[in-house]
Amino acid sequence: MASVDVEMVKCACTDCVCVVPVAKAVTREGKAYCCDECASGHADHAGCDHAGCTCHG
Ligand SMILES: [Zn+2]
Ligand SMILES: [Zn+2]
Ligand SMILES: [Zn+2]
Repeated sequence: MASVDVEMVKCACTDCVCVVPVAKAVTREGKAYCCDECASGHADHAGCDHAGCTCHG
């Protein structure tokens, strides 16, 4: 099942360092995000769960 040509995209959240496969990215208004928290602009100031990522709005 290994695929070497997965297209990766960086989360559009400025503080987020996450890079996710395009297929798994959350798309919002034409931008790709790593998770719903980032996609919604951290409305609840919830950070994304990823280790090393400090974004939380
Ligand atoms: Zn993140
Ligand atoms: Zn993100
Ligand atoms: Zn974020």
